[in-house]
Amino acid sequence: MKNLPVIALAGNPNSGKTTLFNLLTKSGEATGNRAGVTVSAKSAPLKIGNFKAEITDLPGTYSLSPYGGEEKAAERFIKSGAADVVIDVADATNLERSLFLATELAERHSKVILALNMMDEAERDGTKIDAGLLSERLGIPVVPISAAKNRGIKELVDAAWNAVPKIPKPVFSGGEERSRFCRKLAAEVTHGEPAKESFSDRIDRIICKKYIGLPLFFAVVFIMFAVTFSGPVKALSELFVSLSDEFSGVVSAWLSSVGAGKFLVGLVSEGLIKGTGAVLSFLPQTAMLFFMLELLEDTGYMARAAYVSDGLLRSAGLSGKAFIPLLMGFGCTVPAVMATETLDPAERRSVIFSLPFIPCSARLPVFTMIIGTFFQSHSAIMAFIIYLLGILTAYISALIYSKSKKGRAAPPLTVELPKYRLPTLKNLTTAMKHKLLAFISRAGTVVLLCSVAVHLLCSLDGRLRVTEDASESLMALAGGLIAPLLSPLGIGDWRIASALLSGFFAKETIVSSLSVMCPGGLSTVIGQADAVALCVFVLMYSPCAATLSAQRQLLGRKKSFFLVLRCLAFAYIAAFILRNAFCVLVNFV
Ligand code: GDP
Repeated sequence: MKNLPVIALAGNPNSGKTTLFNLLTKSGEATGNRAGVTVSAKSAPLKIGNFKAEITDLPGTYSLSPYGGEEKAAERFIKSGAADVVIDVADATNLERSLFLATELAERHSKVILALNMMDEAERDGTKIDAGLLSERLGIPVVPISAAKNRGIKELVDAAWNAVPKIPKPVFSGGEERSRFCRKLAAEVTHGEPAKESFSDRIDRIICKKYIGLPLFFAVVFIMFAVTFSGPVKALSELFVSLSDEFSGVVSAWLSSVGAGKFLVGLVSEGLIKGTGAVLSFLPQTAMLFFMLELLEDTGYMARAAYVSDGLLRSAGLSGKAFIPLLMGFGCTVPAVMATETLDPAERRSVIFSLPFIPCSARLPVFTMIIGTFFQSHSAIMAFIIYLLGILTAYISALIYSKSKKGRAAPPLTVELPKYRLPTLKNLTTAMKHKLLAFISRAGTVVLLCSVAVHLLCSLDGRLRVTEDASESLMALAGGLIAPLLSPLGIGDWRIASALLSGFFAKETIVSSLSVMCPGGLSTVIGQADAVALCVFVLMYSPCAATLSAQRQLLGRKKSFFLVLRCLAFAYIAAFILRNAFCVLVNFV
């Protein structure tokens, strides 16, 4: 790929660069109907016709003046001269704003092509754009396209490869002159009805109101959980459990029939199959949650959620920009930590310290298992409460952080409201595929290894002899060391302590470990109030190993260590208080 010409995709956030990138390179990078989805440059080979090139998708930027992190990254790339051709992806429905960058690029790079994207939407709105005139005035080729509808792409690729016409490019003495030029040019080349208040604007006028926006956001989150824990999804999950049980039964019968020892049969059927199966059985719920998060993002609703929570975030010393990494935290904390790179350093630290409290998807199976055992009839509301508690704790964490750094005002809001769009099936399936494959591959690697290790440690005693009595096992010894510390929380059982220890590797392993160590079910070990403490503890106690390593990269070793201690303190105090509050509440009712 080294000697291939490099084509850079530049453009404003949310102009469709990644959609075009995916189309050209047949890759499946995450897209989203909000600014800030692409936070670092990505490259892949171009696979159209006979053309061979390397395509680089740059983070969205409004200008080449280096303000924020993404702008800097895009500017550095353009300045470095690494790109042979720059395709500036412009949003045809928002031409004036897109032209600012186009003029800057045309000035600084000798081969720039303006891809006038979202033409389908512009046409639907009744807007016509004179691409010829636009090209003449800017001095660069202009190709109308629709990345989402795969229109104009061949012409765009052709244009990228043809010599740039020698039309003189406009030169500006300053930003004001450039803005004036863009305004005039946009008006000159755009015909059709002047835009009335659009459908998006009309909806936003209602849902972006302070007193409607936030309650609506929480209602949406609640509906999300009601669907995630609804009957059909649960039934599918139960089907997975019975399939895994059946498979484990067949395999252990076969192993016994070929003369395998009891130890090996147990290791394979309990440790390997049942442990991993326990985690995989939560695939339907996880898939449903991913699907709905993706749906909310693709329609453009998440950007509104960021907008309405700006006031809340500001009161905790954060800006609307912090919403994006915090939101990503519901998926996986590792990319969420990485996404904080676009924030200013103080805000970044505050977000990294708060992210462990946002329940990542790996914790969903743990909550689902506990809720399924103890709060079967109130599953959606319980899940909702746990997630709200996570959000509230993240808020308190950011608040404590901002109070400790007195006088620091939150940076200004930079969230942009994109138009509402019907999500495309392709975007939905691509995003889901990536996340689900990651979930499955974790189940097949870290979780599988941990579950086998837990089974082994439960089968061997202190002298490394096979034991039938798990309470004499190595695992019981290790768990027993920390179990007394957890006793005030009602979860001072060696099996719970060991499962929590295994959760340091990956949170899902808590499920596999408990299913290996508690064959009779969790209710044989703890009661309902203790289950509340366990949920709270799992929600807060420590980021997993992968997250810790990402955090260490950005914070350094000392601060990361402090972060774990801080999480443990939060977890312990909150679990203690909420367990007792639950007991009081139950007695009262
Ligand atoms: P990026 O931030 O510039 O990388 O933008 P994305 O590729 O993530 O796209 C932003 C949103 O615009 C997504 O919801 C896409 O589905 C949508 N989108 C991209 N291209 C088009 C297009 O040509 N037409 C329409 N209608 N939507 C598009």
